[in-house]
Amino acid sequence: MQLPREVIIGKGTLNRVPEVVKRLGIKGKALVLSDLQCYELAGKTVSKFLEESGLSVDFLPIKTMTMKDVLVLESQIKELKPQILFGVGGGTVIDSAKVSSGSQNIPFISIPTTVSHDGIASPLASIKGSDKPYSIMAQAPLAIIADTEVISKAPWRFMVSGCGDIISKFTAVKDWKLAHIENNEYYGGYAASLALMSAKLVTENAELIVYRQDEGLRVLLEALISCGVAMSIAGSSRPCSGSEHLFSHALDIINTNHAMHGEQCGVGCILSAYLYKANWQGIKKTLKQLGAPTTAAELSVKDADVVKALELAAKIRPERYTILHMLNLSAEACEKTARATGIIS
Ligand SMILES: [Zn+2]
Repeated sequence: MQLPREVIIGKGTLNRVPEVVKRLGIKGKALVLSDLQCYELAGKTVSKFLEESGLSVDFLPIKTMTMKDVLVLESQIKELKPQILFGVGGGTVIDSAKVSSGSQNIPFISIPTTVSHDGIASPLASIKGSDKPYSIMAQAPLAIIADTEVISKAPWRFMVSGCGDIISKFTAVKDWKLAHIENNEYYGGYAASLALMSAKLVTENAELIVYRQDEGLRVLLEALISCGVAMSIAGSSRPCSGSEHLFSHALDIINTNHAMHGEQCGVGCILSAYLYKANWQGIKKTLKQLGAPTTAAELSVKDADVVKALELAAKIRPERYTILHMLNLSAEACEKTARATGIIS
């Protein structure tokens, strides 16, 4: 079980980089990964603090995260020989740091500049264009430094996506429990409760989040980090990724012009909750309140793509048993589900 040793959340926490470096006994050479925009926003400051702490610092810009990018990055790491990696940016940057540091057996520190999904603290990463359209195991960050002042500068849509990813744990946990009952799969009550509590807290604090209160952002950040920890405890993405995530992955395959991960998972959660005969209306209401998409049109995908994605979802990951595997829905049943929940009209 890998868990972060330090989690620092709040306004201006970038200033605490030297303190974290000192406490964790980090010395030698650091490699900062960031995209050019996030480097200006935060990476530069992080590098400056690292240099002031006596470390020598290299910087590599990250644009995309394909299998080829990972290989290039790994050979650059072998050449530069850093003792630690810092991922300063959004999902692509953090995932790059996570995968490349993991394979090279060096620790990494996560400094998120957006909160669009739960990857900021999880040990899992997604690689684009790989044969697996879902996340793979990498390593958990040694520390997370989340500066709410930096994060609040990101477009609002990122925050909404993060909320969608968290709310989708309502059905992810149901699927995990179902797999335990039907297939005798390992089920960890603690990890499941942690994921579920995050979904509940974001739901309860939706108003604070919508009004863009610092307190709301903090709830969302803590929820995203708790979900990352839940995955570390479970040793897989199970507590945080069920049928609603499979729907989102399927939509990514069908429609390359897809919406954000958390936005799609939110819609997937409505569909899955309906199939569970659970309170899908409540989930839809919270997503609407947050300004998250709740229809195909709001996701900017065709009605037919939603139906196709629901049909494809179970097939892309047969070993991850969910309600979709149990029900084995026909195309007609998928369409009926999408229509009944108002996702297509
Ligand atoms: Zn997710």
